[in-house]
Amino acid sequence: MPEGFKQARWKEPLLNEISRPGRVGMLPPSDPEIAKEFPEPGSLVPARMRRASVELPELSELQVLRHFNRLSQMNFSVELGMYPLGSCTMKYNPKVSEMIASSDAMKQAHPLQPPETVQGLLSILYELERMLSEITGMSRFALCTAAGAQGEFAGVLMIRKYLMEHGGSERDEILVPDSAHGTNPASAAMAGFRVVKVPSDSSGQVRARAVQELVSEKTAGMMFTVPNTLGLFESEVLDVSKAVHAAGGLMYYDGANMNALLGKARPGDMGFDVVHLNLHKTFATPHGGGGPGAGPVGANDKLSPYLPVPLIADNGGKYSLDYDQERSIGQLKGFVGNSAVLLRAYAYIRLLGASGLADVSSLAVLAANYLWRRLDPNAFPVSHGEGLRRKHEAVVSVKGELPGGAMKVAKALLDRGVHSPTVYFPLIVSEALMIEPTESEPMELLDEYADAMNKIYMSLKDGTLGDPPVETSVGRVDEVKASRPLTLKVHW
Ligand SMILES: *Cc1c(COP(=O)(O)O)cnc(C)c1O
Repeated sequence: MPEGFKQARWKEPLLNEISRPGRVGMLPPSDPEIAKEFPEPGSLVPARMRRASVELPELSELQVLRHFNRLSQMNFSVELGMYPLGSCTMKYNPKVSEMIASSDAMKQAHPLQPPETVQGLLSILYELERMLSEITGMSRFALCTAAGAQGEFAGVLMIRKYLMEHGGSERDEILVPDSAHGTNPASAAMAGFRVVKVPSDSSGQVRARAVQELVSEKTAGMMFTVPNTLGLFESEVLDVSKAVHAAGGLMYYDGANMNALLGKARPGDMGFDVVHLNLHKTFATPHGGGGPGAGPVGANDKLSPYLPVPLIADNGGKYSLDYDQERSIGQLKGFVGNSAVLLRAYAYIRLLGASGLADVSSLAVLAANYLWRRLDPNAFPVSHGEGLRRKHEAVVSVKGELPGGAMKVAKALLDRGVHSPTVYFPLIVSEALMIEPTESEPMELLDEYADAMNKIYMSLKDGTLGDPPVETSVGRVDEVKASRPLTLKVHW
């Protein structure tokens, strides 16, 4: 962690504001021999599609470079410092998968290209589908869904359709634990279900007994996150699955955070019928800026006929997009989904292999437990499951539950050139800090991070912390002002 951290503060104007008429970024070569290799840019666009005028900023190449370099200096990313954002798995995404995903072959592929011309990509996607099925213990995967939440939505729609076709159309309740990610109840409600909250016990786990008391002939299924958002493995998951199945419901697995289970355990073996994965958390796609993601959804034999289309079909070595699934819930996203994200996941899995994936999990779990144990328990006590080992993340509270304490600790960390943990989630922990260091960080940084948190707590307690952050390019925003008198239009 850098001593004396100070983030750059550029008063950076918009590109439109520094634009000057006639200024150009690049001139075509004047040597006619070379110039003929460079077509006039406009000539590449069919005449009827050309605009008469486009108001784009007119700038030199250097101005553009400086602009974006300066903006990047005012930003923060996992490539600048530790980013242990729990439930988000901000791990390092190897550059080689980035290179593969941005290769020319990928950049120039078009979704409407005839399948014969993209057999390579389709064969990769087919293989990815098989690998994700193997990793989770499912029969088939649909790769098209673009986010975790969309995978969840697809999954609960599949449960609904299955029940409708099997005499369960009156089943309208989905069980969701109180520690679940907010997208779970939201997806269930959007699919038309009533959400029944399952309480966690004082050790932070869902007990099979609690589930037995809530299931009935109204139960359509249960959405379950294992390990849960407290970072704890749900030790009664097998009995929970049994209880829901015995009542006639189906089991949904929220696999957004597979970092603790890769190569170790499979939701399919725990009784789950349908799962989603977040490739943009566990499988090497950078995220955090709202960029493209992929939340493939997988199912066992019972539910796979309902998967969203298209699926990738292998007709004896010839690959195609299969839209022809008569019981499918239908199409939720165009074409194969976000293919570059899928390709990164494929590269990542192939690079690591089965044993490498298992090592990722071992290291992620070791790092989370190590960092958590380095925190002073008198400053950051755990709220649930005191003696239990964590999986990929740990949730602590700020001692004394000092109001606003978690936010202050988070902001003070920013002043040290690292990112804060996730704060105020899960909702069942007050003044929560949810820390997920991932497998990527070296031990020295885990030590420094824990030391920094312990020191910050001391300053918070004795009232000398001040009002962080003060060293970042942007201070605290007025959140009310940022959302109410919001102006999104720029005039120049
Ligand atoms: C991130 C996350 C989701 C939602 O994924 P999105 O891609 O953001 O829609 C769902 N469940 C859990 C546990 C998560 O951490």
